[in-house]
Amino acid sequence: MGLLNTQYAEIMRKYDQIQLDNAETERRRQEEVFAAIPAYEALHKQLSSLCVSRTKQLLMGNDAALASLKEEIRALSQKKEELLVAAGFPKDYLDPIYTCPHCKDTGYLPDQSKCLCLKRNIVNYLYNQSNLSDVLYRENFDTLETKYYNGKDLENYNQILAKCHNFVSGFNSGYQNLFIYGTVGTGKTFLSNCIAKELLDKGHSVIYFSAPKLFDILIENRLDEQKGDAYLNDFYDCDLLIIDDLGTECTNRLTTSELFTCINERALRKKATIISSNLQLGELTDRYSERVFSRITSGYELLKVTGPDIRIAKKLAQ
Ligand SMILES: [Zn+2]
Repeated sequence: MGLLNTQYAEIMRKYDQIQLDNAETERRRQEEVFAAIPAYEALHKQLSSLCVSRTKQLLMGNDAALASLKEEIRALSQKKEELLVAAGFPKDYLDPIYTCPHCKDTGYLPDQSKCLCLKRNIVNYLYNQSNLSDVLYRENFDTLETKYYNGKDLENYNQILAKCHNFVSGFNSGYQNLFIYGTVGTGKTFLSNCIAKELLDKGHSVIYFSAPKLFDILIENRLDEQKGDAYLNDFYDCDLLIIDDLGTECTNRLTTSELFTCINERALRKKATIISSNLQLGELTDRYSERVFSRITSGYELLKVTGPDIRIAKKLAQ
């Protein structure tokens, strides 16, 4: 799972809250029953002290006393239930309340594996963190269409698609980066969204940023020493960072240096990055620097998407 410790702690705090809320409901229900059935509270106290005695006898290994206590407890429990039902309450009204009965709101099953509810909470959390939660329901491998590509463009697109699938299937076993480039509207962002959804659904942390937004945040945090490192670590440590539309930001010396630091840090940590851009490869050197060009061309699989501007093709088809 691609969660940082602080993120994991945030999710587990929700489980603590669920347990507290349910305990509060149990307490209120008990008060309600005690008020409605006066005999019930006495029975309840009697039963509690019998349970304490049972524990003592159990520790002393007194089997005969245990057997008779067990019988008394059973009879009292039955009496309590009868009183409850006679007063019009459901017979399980005072049973412990669990929002998830499988893990009893702990997030973990008895064999210490993660409960389905915890896995789901982690994925939801990662979706919310990714900046992609809405778009991925529309843009994923299931909704992807190739009808706007023809001839050589289609052939090329299908090869790129296969590489994107490989990127996902090999994500756990190897470390890979993609540089998806080509002219405006050829579906580059759609491809990175498809990959993001597959990985988020598997519980990986994915962070998406358009290049202008990413550089704003990187530079702002770089200049603010107090926030600085912890925040930047999220960018360097998430399982997949997507930098969309590289080249649309206002490029200057600061953005060039942040771009290099970002892709370099991620490479050192063996964390995957996908960059999409309308720039041609040669423009990387002119716009950024030789070392950015060299990092990308040597460390990234280069996928050049060709074809019509899909946004225009879609409008024409309407
Ligand atoms: Zn659960």
